[in-house]
Parts: sequence; structure tokens; C-alpha cells
Amino acid sequence: MTPAGPAKPVIVVGGGLAGITASVTLARQGTPVVLLETRKKLGGRATSFTDVRSGEELDNCQHVVLGCCTNYLRLLDELQSRQHLTWTREQYWIEPGGRTSVIKPCFMPAPAHFTSAVLAASFISMREKVQLARAMNAILRVDRTTWQDRTFADFLRHCAQPARLIETFWTPVIVSACNLEPARVAASSALQVFQEGFLADAHAADVGVSTVPLVRLYEHAERLIQSAGGSVRLGAGVEFIGTTSVRTTSGETIEGSRIICALPPERAASVIDPAIASVDDRFSAMSRVQHSPILGVHLRFDRPVLDRPHCVLVNAGVQWLFRKDDQGAAVHAVISAADAWMELDEEAISARVVNEMKAYLPLAKDAKLTWARAIKEKRATFAATPEMERLRPAPLPGAWSNAEPPVILAGDWVQTGWPATMEGAVRSGYRAAALALNKPIESFTAPDMPPARLARALGLRPAPRPPSFSPARAAISAVPSPSRQPYVAHV
Ligand SMILES: Cc1cc2nc3c(=O)[nH]c(=O)nc-3n(C[C@H](O)[C@H](O)[C@H](O)COP(=O)(O)OP(=O)(O)OC[C@H]3O[C@@H](n4cnc5c(N)ncnc54)[C@H](O)[C@@H]3O)c2cc1C
Repeated sequence: MTPAGPAKPVIVVGGGLAGITASVTLARQGTPVVLLETRKKLGGRATSFTDVRSGEELDNCQHVVLGCCTNYLRLLDELQSRQHLTWTREQYWIEPGGRTSVIKPCFMPAPAHFTSAVLAASFISMREKVQLARAMNAILRVDRTTWQDRTFADFLRHCAQPARLIETFWTPVIVSACNLEPARVAASSALQVFQEGFLADAHAADVGVSTVPLVRLYEHAERLIQSAGGSVRLGAGVEFIGTTSVRTTSGETIEGSRIICALPPERAASVIDPAIASVDDRFSAMSRVQHSPILGVHLRFDRPVLDRPHCVLVNAGVQWLFRKDDQGAAVHAVISAADAWMELDEEAISARVVNEMKAYLPLAKDAKLTWARAIKEKRATFAATPEMERLRPAPLPGAWSNAEPPVILAGDWVQTGWPATMEGAVRSGYRAAALALNKPIESFTAPDMPPARLARALGLRPAPRPPSFSPARAAISAVPSPSRQPYVAHV
């Protein structure tokens, strides 16, 4: 009798947050993993690079985590990195000229915790505050799944929100959170942001940022994966994904027990075995995914310009500024849904950002820009339109007749119930690991922040549970198939 060889590893393709989460979770269960990443570092869209001009380690863009991102925080605990986050509970909304409203929670329980701050805010009129309260009341009670086919602009019309309030309040919040304007974003996505990110709990909207370059948050991932007999292979691009093997661009074929594809949709569609793509309509839908850009601009001035940890500029092209040093002379500007900026060169971008800063920040008025670096991410996130909500694939096909295991999909763009965020990517990674191990999908995910008692009493429901992707079906895959048969996929 031939002795059984070592168990085949699970192959995870893509070392962004989804792939890191799936790999680390499997490793923590003792499962060997081969994680293949085309770049020379982990982190994907949430990572850092060494700037050749300054020699500095810069993030591609400032990334923000909110208190409600329970799964991202769990991952950072597992990576022993949570201590690198710093938190603030205040948001500073600055008007042209510098008048500042501090939006911070008060003593009242959620969902009333922002009441005193909103009442005191100068950028919203008293009449608008009443209208805002009415809309928030509607958001508390609405079943957001019934708004999947309409845009958030439709919802705001339904709540009779005035144009100025849409411009000064609703748009910056939603553009920052969903990277798409209210006229395009699915109402269900925007409602999720307000229900879970603002109203559910007084800590849900706490703002966390990393104090170290993002790539350093993932430093322990490789050790965890190696401790279970697996490996992380950087610079290993994958050009073909089959059901139980992948081929790298250097021509190496690697066999695995399961494949987790944690690639962006357009990459996944281009490397999947055409025989799988022809029968698994999760892959045909990928070519219809549209993207929305984000622009991150690193700036250095000859003097301090920002005396807050971060701020929102009311009615500006730049939505957020983040202070990047103790003095406030280093600043990072974020422009989400940045289509209108994509054709500008770095000089024009920094000139426009600096002009806006001078108009809003009294300290910046006479400051001189000494250095700037603009990073355009044209495919920063999927465009979270109602059509995209219908397109987002499940991690597994609905059914398959093949005894070979179907490819498990992970990434911020699969069905997670979240917008394109680090939290969504991490959730998908935990679920992918559970499916690879035939465990219930909730095995590794952290519980959502539950709505506070008063919020529940006023009608806020807990987040809808994701569809249950039956692990019983995945169990079929454990049986090796003598010959390849096509999938029958019903998503
Ligand atoms: C500018 C910007 C700002 C953002 N701001 C925030 C924020 O403030 N808060 C927040 O929560 N989210 C933010 N996001 C979104 C967040 O970064 C993403 O949702 C998340 O990082 C996606 O992770 P992922 O693993 O799903 O995908 P990715 O990070 O795209 O990972 C996919 C990985 O696959 C690799 N890959 C591609 N092709 C191949 C191949 N052929 N073979 C092997 N590997 C391959 C890629 O290099 C990449 O590492 C921002 C995104 C951007 C771009």
C-alpha cells in the first residue's frame, strides 16, 4: 500500500486583506496554506510603498476604520497589530474661513448620541436639523434590503431632504463611506452605513487610523502561516486558476485541496479556467463590475497647517484631511469618487488641494507647500450601484454537479453586506476559510455590534444575516473526481 503523501495545502490567490484573513484563519486551525501574491508585499489596496523621491514609506491612501468594524479589529488582534491604531471620537467639520463644528457623542444613548453635537453644528440650519432628524428616524426603521434596487438619492427624495442638506451633509458622508455619490449608490449600501456606522451604538462611528504604515500591520501574517506548515509567496503572480490547482506566471503548477480566489473581480475573470467560467455565472458577471476612483494626496508644508487629527471640509472637493505628524505640517488629503480629478497631473492636483486648504484652514493661509505626492487609484473600489448589489457573487456557486470542489471567492466585492471596505474584505476572508474547512460560515466571523437598547426600541433591527452558503454542499468536494464534469451553477 502506498503511504499517503502530505495533505495538499489550501491555495489562496491574492494577498490583500481578504486573502490574508483567509490564510491566517486556516493556519490558526492548523491547515497548511500557500498564499500567492503577485506583488512583493501583502495588503493589496490597503498597503504602503517606499516613495522613490522621498525614501519615505507611504500608504497608498489614508485608510480609516470605524468602531463598528468588528471583523477588521478581530483580524488585527490575531495579527497582534491592534495596538497600532489610534482612535478619536470627534469629527471636525470645517467651513470656508475656518468655522468648525465638532461632531462627537454626548451622554445620551444611541441613537441619540449625536443630538447635542448636531444641534450645535453651524454648517446646518435649524430647519435642516429638523429635516435631518426626520430622515434619521426613517433610517432607524427602514428595512434596507427593500431599498436594494434604488439609489440613496431616491431615499433622500422619499424623506424630502433639501438640496443644501444633501450637499453639505449627506453627500460627504456617503461619498467618503461608499466612494460613490448619492445619485449612483445603492440606497441599501448607504443605509447600512448610517444604521451600523452611526445609529446602532455610541462607539460605532469612532474613527481609527493606523499609526504605522499599513503594510506593517500584516507583519505577523507570514509567521502564522508558516507555523501551520504553509508559506507566503510574494512576487508570485497567478495566470490560471482551476478547481484544484493554479499555475503561476513562471509556469509552476501548484496543487491544492481547495482554491480560494481573493483577487479583484477583473483579475479573477481573466485567470479562471475558461471551462469553469463557461458554467459558473459568478465569473461571467465579473466583467460588468464598474469601479470608482479615490485620490490620496500626501502634502508637506513649511509650517503647521492642521491643528486637528483630521477634519471634513464642508462643500469642498477634498472630503477629508488627516494630520500625519505631531505638528500638523504633514497632511494627507482624501478625495473619494474622484472621477473629476483623474485627468489632472500631480502639480494641478496639489495646487487645487492647497487652494482649498487655504480657504478652509486659517493656519494654511500663508503656508508654503514643500513636497507633494498624489496617488490615483482608478480602481479603488467597485461602484456600489444597485446593479452591482445584484451582481455581487456568493463565495460558492449555488449548486454544482461536479465532485471537484468549486473555487471559493473572497474579496470586498463578493456578497458581504458591506460596502467596499477593509471590513468587507476581512469578512469575506473569514467566510472563505470557514467554507474551505466545511465549517459553518459564522465559525470565524466576529459578531456585529448589536444595536443599543434604545436604538432597538426605536425600530433599528440587527444587521441582516448573510445568506447561509451551505457547507454540506462543500463537503461533496472532499471526494476526488475521476473525471472532470462541468459545474451546474445557480447563483
Ligand atoms: C485609495 C483607497 C482608499 C481606501 N480607503 C478605505 C478606508 O478608509 N477604509 C476602508 O475600510 N477601506 C478603504 N478602502 C478599501 C479597501 O482598501 C479595500 O476594500 C480592501 O483593501 C480590499 O481588499 P481585498 O483583499 O478584497 O482586495 P485587494 O486589496 O485588491 O487584494 C487583491 C490582491 O490580489 C493581488 N493580485 C492581483 N492579481 C494577482 C494575480 N494574478 N496573482 C496573484 N495575486 C494577484 C493584488 O496584488 C492584491 O494584493 C480604500 C481603497 C483604496 C484603493
